[in-house]
Amino acid sequence: MKKQYILALLLTVTSLTFSQSKKYPTSYFRKPLDIPLVLAGTFGELRGNHFHSGIDIKTQGRSGLKVRASANGYVARIKVSHWGYGKALYIKHPNGYTTVYAHLKKFSPKIEKYVKQQQYKKQSFEIQLFPNNKQLRVKKGEMIAYSGNTGGSTAPHLHYEIRNSKTEKTINPLLFGFKIADHKKPQITSLRAYPLTEDSQVNQSGVPLQLSIHRTSDGDLMADKITACGKIGFAIGTFDRLDDAPNKNGIYRLVQKVNGAKTHQFTAQKFSFSETRYINLLIDYQRYKEIKQRVQKCYIEPSNKLKMYTTIGGDGTITVEDGNNYTTIIEVSDIEGNKTKLTIPIQGKKEPILIQKEPKITPYYIDYKTFNKFEKNGVTVAFPKQTFYESLYLDFQVNDNVAKIHDETVPLHKNYTLTFDISHLSKKQKKHLYIARLNSKGYKSFVRTIKKKDKCYTTTKYLGNYTLAYDSIPPKIRLYKSHNKQWLTRFSKLRVKISDKGTGIKKYRGQIDGKWILMEYDPKRGILTYDFNDKKFQKAKHTLKVVVTDNVGNTSTFVSTFYRKK
Ligand SMILES: [Zn+2]
Repeated sequence: MKKQYILALLLTVTSLTFSQSKKYPTSYFRKPLDIPLVLAGTFGELRGNHFHSGIDIKTQGRSGLKVRASANGYVARIKVSHWGYGKALYIKHPNGYTTVYAHLKKFSPKIEKYVKQQQYKKQSFEIQLFPNNKQLRVKKGEMIAYSGNTGGSTAPHLHYEIRNSKTEKTINPLLFGFKIADHKKPQITSLRAYPLTEDSQVNQSGVPLQLSIHRTSDGDLMADKITACGKIGFAIGTFDRLDDAPNKNGIYRLVQKVNGAKTHQFTAQKFSFSETRYINLLIDYQRYKEIKQRVQKCYIEPSNKLKMYTTIGGDGTITVEDGNNYTTIIEVSDIEGNKTKLTIPIQGKKEPILIQKEPKITPYYIDYKTFNKFEKNGVTVAFPKQTFYESLYLDFQVNDNVAKIHDETVPLHKNYTLTFDISHLSKKQKKHLYIARLNSKGYKSFVRTIKKKDKCYTTTKYLGNYTLAYDSIPPKIRLYKSHNKQWLTRFSKLRVKISDKGTGIKKYRGQIDGKWILMEYDPKRGILTYDFNDKKFQKAKHTLKVVVTDNVGNTSTFVSTFYRKK
């Protein structure tokens, strides 16, 4: 009897280990850099409107480190963009996974040559290519690129992902056996409670409230005892630190137990890009917009379709009954298994509710399950069904040319259309016009504006204040400071500084002696760069022409003569 039991236990243990290793191969991929892996960002970390889809590997504060293919395969996709991933490579491997390398400075000579050919052919720096499985094969460990800081990156690093090639789901790379030094426990920095129905309450409040927590002698955390009644939920502020870096990373797992039973679990294991925007329901979006603090809810909102939860124990909400006591434990862990526990004692007690939320009733009711369209003083808003996560009364006002579309603390899942009637404007006004979003200080920022004869519109995912604005100032173009002498033979690169006040740069075009040249645009520094290695010159005198257009169509043309032999 006893022996059988042990055998069964052993079998369970081995099959568990087997299924784990079968799920994600842990020795197939090599690390993409030669240096030890120190992370500036973890997988599933909470970012603006999305979860971080990979790991950010520090590159010692510099660009130009050799990036190596994690395994044999072929380059299946190359993307060069001013934004987002900047220069990025996607390598498909025969085991069903794709590795992604982003924010690259440049590609290996073999890949760079292929990309430049296509850029010259299409006369565009920004490009997306899908080579077939014979064009750019790579070996495990082969240098494929140099690390950089291109696209939306704010400091040099390598963004690295592992995706399932078939489903395009992105998976936590640290499940593939990469070693990261992490002996530090995650930290829980704040706790919030949410009364979730009209008659539910926490500490006599019917609105969300901050709870105080303190450290116990064993290093864990304890909340002051609360009284509650009805359906409630919690959210915590939390982060994890690794051994070799001071930055705050995301946690791997969050578990909530009530009286010993698991009621909620979130794991940063994998997700698909179509569900990443549900982060708006995972965090307390209003709090994030109001005080920039991201707290992670320990319960699942009804409209939240994110699949990073294990829902065996329910949706994480707690129904507190008058007269009963509950102990809620929230446990966060990093991928190395370091854990921090927060205990919240709850006394079920029905008391008078002292603070209650009162919804502001307006003529503009949004039933979130249907299409909604409203018009006021020449401004129209049209929301496709399920743009909102829940039904509400929209605060919609148009005063002094400013359209107030509710406020930015309410998240949206889709774009809506905002249209302004411009039939009363002159032709000249229409030419320089654009739709601007106003921030709380009244600062205007350009939003992509489509103009028709008597109206203009934009599609946006953000509520808030919008107005019509005008831009008649063309972009500025000048040679980079070192190029003011006319002989450029000793330079390997030609640099031009460009900038635009108002709506920003939409497009640019560079030519030498009448022929299109590839100019790489770095929007962070406002610099266009041409590589003299792209072309050999026959004569010494040359004409450079650069044309830059801003987002309403104001155009500047710059022409200069320079001399260069070879
Ligand atoms: Zn990243």
